[in-house]
Amino acid sequence: MDDDRRASGVLLLKNLKLASHSVLESMQGRSKCPKCKASRKYYCYTCYIPLDEIKDKVPQVKLPLKIDIIKHPKEIDGKSTAVHAGLISPDDVTIYNFPCVPDFDPSEKVVLVFPSKEAVNLDDLFKDPKYEMQRDDKAVPFTRVVFIDSTWNQSNQIFKDERLKGLPCVMLNSRETCFWRTQKDKPITYLATIEAIYYFLVDYHNLTEEATYDGRYDNLLYFYSFMYKVVEKSNMEKKQEGMENIRKRKRQDWEDKVKNKKAVTGEVDDDKESECKESNNSNKTAFTS
Ligand SMILES: [Zn+2]
Repeated sequence: MDDDRRASGVLLLKNLKLASHSVLESMQGRSKCPKCKASRKYYCYTCYIPLDEIKDKVPQVKLPLKIDIIKHPKEIDGKSTAVHAGLISPDDVTIYNFPCVPDFDPSEKVVLVFPSKEAVNLDDLFKDPKYEMQRDDKAVPFTRVVFIDSTWNQSNQIFKDERLKGLPCVMLNSRETCFWRTQKDKPITYLATIEAIYYFLVDYHNLTEEATYDGRYDNLLYFYSFMYKVVEKSNMEKKQEGMENIRKRKRQDWEDKVKNKKAVTGEVDDDKESECKESNNSNKTAFTS
């Protein structure tokens, strides 16, 4: 994680209005998922439910629209941040494992968040006269949003699926990720799925509400920010451990050097002493002779 990324991550975390992480911090070890009985920590990433110890304490967020997340089968469940959305907003978020995709109701207005060639900015979509919003009745250009949860290459495979082809695409305003698992060769603006969902909702709020954004969706990043802190702490500890090891090695090197020098100096001293004795003796001899 480079310094810029860390700085933007810290800035994001500092400004979030989050529920306390103390319940997560106090959890010891792992427990069984109440549904599939697999050993898990905090939540089950295959059943998308929190463990019993925390189920009543995980913050819940009501969303202004329905969200479907299509997860690529090769996306590793335990590493996916999409599940965080399912845990925090279970009534509004559904996760599908590709090739399963949702059956879209023809009467529903659905958009896909994907930066295709035809994708439009969220702001532009709202400005489109076709979708022009009447603030009084809160008419909006869409009521359901689809996100793809996968690596960049895999997302193309999902995007090309026949069942998603007719969906209009929107793209997010550029933001920097603070994800600790960065994808090789991908820019800092390539967001983790939960970041993309969060920023989408913040932008959506700013386009649909008169009042400025008040942090109401911040808890979507509840698990994400907690894990960010855990990773940062562990990195810091590793760094400190590394620095301590370097210090130890340097101290050892110095002690070895001193020992060697002493040994060398000690030999020289002995020689000098004998030289000195000889010299004294010779002096004496010379003196006495
Ligand atoms: Zn489970």
